[in-house]
Parts: sequence; C-alpha cells; structure tokens
Amino acid sequence: MTALFATPAHAAGNAGSTPAWAMLAYLAAGVFFILALRGLSSPATSRAGNRNGMIGMALALVTTLVTHDIANIVEIGIAILLGAIVGVTVARKIAMTAMPELVAGFHSLVGLAAVVVGLAAWLNPGAFGIVDAQGQILAVSRVELGLGIAIGAITFSGSVIAFLKLSGRMSGSPIMLPGRHVINLGTLAAIIALIGVYTVSPEGGAGEGYLIIAVTVLAFMIGFLLIIPIGGADMPVVVSMLNSYSGWAAAAMGFTLGNSAMIITGALVGSSGAILSYIMCRAMNRSFISVIAGGFGGDSGGGAGGEAREQRPYKQGSAEDAAYMLEQAESVIIIPGYGMAVAQAQHVLREMGDKLKEKGVEVKYAIHPVAGRMPGHMNVLLAEASVPYDEVFELEDINSEFSQCDVAFIIGANDVVNPAAKTDKASPIYGMPVFDVDKAKQVFFIKRSMGGVGYAGVDNDVFYMPQTVMLLADAKKMVEGIVKALD
Ligand code: NDP
Repeated sequence: MTALFATPAHAAGNAGSTPAWAMLAYLAAGVFFILALRGLSSPATSRAGNRNGMIGMALALVTTLVTHDIANIVEIGIAILLGAIVGVTVARKIAMTAMPELVAGFHSLVGLAAVVVGLAAWLNPGAFGIVDAQGQILAVSRVELGLGIAIGAITFSGSVIAFLKLSGRMSGSPIMLPGRHVINLGTLAAIIALIGVYTVSPEGGAGEGYLIIAVTVLAFMIGFLLIIPIGGADMPVVVSMLNSYSGWAAAAMGFTLGNSAMIITGALVGSSGAILSYIMCRAMNRSFISVIAGGFGGDSGGGAGGEAREQRPYKQGSAEDAAYMLEQAESVIIIPGYGMAVAQAQHVLREMGDKLKEKGVEVKYAIHPVAGRMPGHMNVLLAEASVPYDEVFELEDINSEFSQCDVAFIIGANDVVNPAAKTDKASPIYGMPVFDVDKAKQVFFIKRSMGGVGYAGVDNDVFYMPQTVMLLADAKKMVEGIVKALD
C-alpha cells in the first residue's frame, strides 16, 4: 500500500533535479500570472495585465524548454510555429461579435489537450516518470490521470456545445431530457467510481484499460449532457463555468507532467473562473450550487431568437427627434447591449457622448454584468472606443440614478432592461436584476425592428411605455444620424 501511494519520480525529481533557478523562474511566472489577473480586473489596467500574462507565459515556456531533455526540438518548433500562425490569423480576423464562441472554442482545445496528455501518460507511463520499480503506474498518478482526463473531456464536450449554441449553429433553447438530473448524477457517480476502481486495481489487472476508456467516454458524455439543458439567458454562467473547468483541466495536466508552473496557472484560471461564475450567478440571481450540479435554470424555456409576441401601440422617432431631446437633457444614461456589438457602434456612440458633453449634458454609461455575449463584452468595446473609464458604471452603482435622469438611451440592449425580470414569474429571466429604465423621464430604444427579441426570446414592456420612443434602425446608422443632427 505504501508503494502504491509513493511519490511519482517526476514530482520527486522536480524538487531534486530541476535546477533552483528553474523553480524560481516558475515561481516568477506564477507571480506574473497573478499580476495579469489583477490587471485584467479593470479596463484601466487591462493592457498591463495582458503584458504581464505574456511575460509569465514566455518565462514558463523558455524554462520548460531549457530544463527538459527535448527529443526533437524541430518538431516542437514546427508545432509552436503552426500554433502561432493559427493564433495570429484568428486574432486578426475574428469579428468582435464572434468573440464569445471563440472563447468557448479555445476552452474546448484546453480540455482536449488534457485528455490527450492523460491518455499519453496512461499508454506510456515510463516516459512521464509516473511508474514504480515494477513499471506499474503509481496510485497517486492514477488519480491525477483519471481526474485530468475526466475534467478535460467534460470541458471539451461542454465547450463544443457552448460554441455551437453561441455561434447560432445550434438552437439556444434548452434541450430537456426526461430524468436528466438522475442521468447526470448517475454518470458523475460512475466516473468517480471508475477512477476509484482504476486507482486501487492490481497492476496489470484485467479490464484496467477499459476503466480509463470508460471514464473518457462517460466524461465526454456528461459534458454534453450538462450543457444541452442550459439555454437562453443562463448562457453567461456556462461560459464562465467552462472557463473554470479549463483551468482545472490544465492543473490536472500539470500534475501528470510534473510541471509546477502548469499547476499554478491552471489553479489560477480555475479559481478565477469559479469566482467569475459566482459573480455571474449573482448577476443572474441563480444559485451557485445548482450551477455546479449542472442542468440548472432554463426550465421555463427561453432561448435565442424568437418573435415578439404581441402587437401593441408604440411610438417611433427619428435621429433628429432623439438629437433634439438629448441636447435638451441635463443627464443621459447610455445602456449598451449585444446589438451595439453587432452594429460596431461603440466609436460613433463615444462621439455622440462627447458632443453631448460639449453641450453641457452629463453622460454616463451603464453596463450590466451579462450584457452582450461574454463577461466584460461591453467594457471591452467601450474601452476600445476610448470611453473614459470614470463614465462607465456597473448595475448596482447606477441603478438608483434612473429615477433622476432625463434620458435612458438603450442601444442594442434588451434582456438587461426588461422589467419582466422583476414582475413575470413565468419569464425565463425572472429574478435577474435589470436596469430600472422605466423610471427615467424619457427612454430611447435602438433596435432594428419590432419583430426581433433579446437572447432570452421574450417580449419587452419598455417598447410600449408612454415615455419610450423606438428608434428602429441599425445602431451605428441611427447614432451616426444623431451625431449629424447634433452638429
Ligand atoms: P439582447 O440579446 O437581450 O438584445 C439584443 C438587442 O439588440 C435586440 O433587441 C436586437 O433587436 C438588437 N440588435 C441586434 N443587432 C442590432 C443592430 N445591428 N442594431 C441595433 N440593434 C440591434 O442583449 P442584452 O445585451 O440586453 O442581453 C444579453 C443577453 O445575452 C442576456 O439574456 C444574457 O443572459 C445573454 N448572454 C450573455 C452572455 C454573457 O456572457 N454576457 C453569454 C451568453 C448569453 P433587433 O434584432 O430587433 O435589432
């Protein structure tokens, strides 16, 4: 039993054979990653955060290459070059609106890498230094390997489904299997049991190979099953949850490879993703425990797309009407949403804000935590358009100001201003805190047509309020018209 739980050779070797300078370099890389996360917590410091992340990654990469006995540096060089070409091409070509599915796609690759590393270690444990004197895989390594493969496979298949849903290739509506909670819990229990049996099974025992294959197949399946019932307005929590899973998958890979930098990085991504999931849950008013259990929310339907359900009277205005009212106002709160990203209207919106400020109007931007299609989506776009950070406010900091403001200017947002979240228990967004735009004296609402609805697929009473004027056009064109009229 003592031999079964002995320390893997690579782990022991890490402290003994890895030179002290390399351990220090890994530690420094970890510090750079922590600084990167800290920097990314605010738009003002995000560039410095990104730079620190790059320095940390370069340090970890070079240290790993220099301290390892590389069998074929040319192959590794070619792989890095190919990866860099793909990465640079994708980064240059990707539309801002496609970022959410890109992030989900990248999470899936982290998960797949963890599965491949785990399977490679299982097939050739000697090369990974995780065998005992008899050449059998150590028990502790079996646990790491089993968990790494399981978390990686769940991350992979879950992220693929998230990618398909976010890119519109698969319906955003929840797909509910009968008895899904029993199936999910049963599958998770089976995965844990199989890893347990694999860990204690006698070395070379019959069926050992099938155990790890069964873990892989079941984990791929549960990733798929956990994400298909989640749809509509609950997707932000899925994105941050998969972000967290990808970190834990990388940490598990770090254990299998005996690489402390990877364990630190994976744990940082895993825990920051978990914190983000918690923040998203709070923003959506969902329980964290039910999210972890999977298949949360969505029972009441919803999902991307759909049609507005009612034909009610509403007021429609023009860019000139809006410009006239805006310059008369003392205070304007701008609420951007997914439609602003689609229209790429952030630059002209900032121009409009600047012109209003020149005319003595107080301008503030209000950002909902789930506006857009990924955490921080609106912050990134406004920062790209050089909107001053001190004019940008979070939901809880600005929501009380709507009752005193003259104009609420909604540009491409919908679910995040829908009062049904406060009043309609049957609504899929019920319980989510939303902006109290109904309290503003005047509301301008930019969207392309009355037919389109928000991501959650529900009608919005704000369209029909007496103080609301609908500005029906592409957001960029409409704001360009307002800027022209302000001139
Ligand atoms: P919504 O998806 O609720 O609404 C988008 C609005 O933009 C619609 O009214 C649409 O109407 C309009 N629109 C689309 N294109 C244009 C355009 N070119 N010009 C003008 N208007 C346009 O956006 P919100 O930001 O309010 O809410 C985000 C939703 O997405 C929430 O339900 C959230 O839960 C969900 N979500 C968020 C994620 C995140 O991490 N932030 C991830 C996944 C989902 P029309 O078509 O008529 O123009």
